Amino acid sequence: MVKCEACEKEFESERQLHGHLKAHDLRMASYYQKYFPRKDWYNGEIIKFKSKEYYFDNDFNSRGNMQRWLKSKPLTEAQEYCKSVIRKRIEKKKLKYTPSQVELRTIMSPPLQYYQVVLGDYYKTCKELGLKNKFSSIVGTSNFNPVIKKKIKIRTDSREQTPLSLDHPIEVKGLKFGDYTLDNPELCCHCYIERKSIRDFVGTFSGGFERFKKEAQRAEDSGAYLIVLIERKLNECMIFNKLPYVSRKVKVTPEFLFRNVRDLIQEFPEVQFLFVDGRREASRVTKKILFDTNCSSRDFDLQLAYDLKIL
Ligand SMILES: [Zn+2]
Repeated sequence: MVKCEACEKEFESERQLHGHLKAHDLRMASYYQKYFPRKDWYNGEIIKFKSKEYYFDNDFNSRGNMQRWLKSKPLTEAQEYCKSVIRKRIEKKKLKYTPSQVELRTIMSPPLQYYQVVLGDYYKTCKELGLKNKFSSIVGTSNFNPVIKKKIKIRTDSREQTPLSLDHPIEVKGLKFGDYTLDNPELCCHCYIERKSIRDFVGTFSGGFERFKKEAQRAEDSGAYLIVLIERKLNECMIFNKLPYVSRKVKVTPEFLFRNVRDLIQEFPEVQFLFVDGRREASRVTKKILFDTNCSSRDFDLQLAYDLKIL
């Protein structure tokens, strides 16, 4: 049972309560902001109401406010805050795996490198909180060594519409998943790169989500490692609905889209996402992952490596 805070009347479901709010001339946002006020910890302003979930999940109205608040606090308090963000996610989202950089950067949370500085060892802390680690350690520059194998071709999917210019011999072949691998996939530990423009990305993680899950399942079943490489920076993808080159017909919000992304990351440990700055970067990073990482792309958080300019 849920009670209407305005008139004490009880309802069987939240949905019924939300329908009833009209009787008080209240919109959902004003109802919750009035009867369950939540304030930004940094400046005391009321938390914006994007959805009920968002309203009750966030302690700040912007990442900037969160960062300013953290800076103003002693280390122990910042540490406690970081742990509480992870604990809440474990509880609410039933997380199994330590949140990756893409997961952290798309929720109200500091980026992974901040946790590393404040907590000493992010992965160790997450393990202590009951999570499984997919990655062995924080990536360092020494982890990637160039081992360009001249005789090995890059295998490209025959359905790839706008191939990257890779400046390397190519073999075109139908792939069951992904767009790029090596002509001997064992040499890159069965790593497959799925390239996406921002438009493909938005389409795939809204209407095409179930289809993509099947692809991820096919990849998992055959022991492959799938890297979804998006040719746009993560910050831009997070505001795709405000960008001119993404269709106005797209009805989903970035919040909805990135929830799908985070769900997928938790469901398929053999899938990683990597957002890079444009097509030239996508080409560079594709070659680097296939040739230079010595299979370590499975062991490291690639978005973190890219953000730290190691990849
Ligand atoms: Zn009422």
